[in-house]
Amino acid sequence: MSSSARAIGSSRPGGLVVISGPSGAGKTTICNALLERLPRAMWSVSATTRAKRSGEVDGETYRFVSTETFEAMRARDEFLETAEYVGHLYGTPAEPVRRAVADGRYVILEIEVQGGMQVMRKMPDAIRIFVLPPTRATLEARLSGRATESAEQLARRLAEADGEIATARDSGCYGFFVTNDVLEDTVSEVLSIIEKETQAI
Ligand code: 5GP
Repeated sequence: MSSSARAIGSSRPGGLVVISGPSGAGKTTICNALLERLPRAMWSVSATTRAKRSGEVDGETYRFVSTETFEAMRARDEFLETAEYVGHLYGTPAEPVRRAVADGRYVILEIEVQGGMQVMRKMPDAIRIFVLPPTRATLEARLSGRATESAEQLARRLAEADGEIATARDSGCYGFFVTNDVLEDTVSEVLSIIEKETQAI
């Protein structure tokens, strides 16, 4: 077991790890690596109104809901945070997060910046990490290599990226900015941030 896994697998209380960054920065891959290495970490399944991409599983990757269902959940105050991103709604259901944290687990929230700021206000102890692409060209290449979205969607996501990075820097929300060049190095860096921060709690 790595030292990071030991730190997070101890009897310390649980908490939240927010991973944000522009679409194509590699957040999901990083989160999957974290989940593999941290035995007491778990993934928060967001609700979204966007269409399911091929390979995504309803209830695992996301809970895919209609706008009506999303709005009904929001009206019942079921979300820890919500955001609109390139025309779709996304939200973190609060109850599973609260239960898991009370149970001593670390919940990984892969969310965009507006949501990150809401989490900061509600749960200020959350570890907040922003993942940057090494260059804009890398981001463009990664996004177009995905082939899961239309050209229009890709263009919107790229346009969104610049604003997200600027907002993340200005917001003061993120204690850590990590550049995802070599995946293994990035994962190690994120693990060591989590280890240090959880020991400090
Ligand atoms: P995608 O459509 O590529 O899965 O996600 C688009 C953006 O929404 C990504 O930046 C992702 O991190 C973010 N996102 C996913 N789920 C949530 C959520 O529950 N809340 C917020 N605020 N952002 C989310």
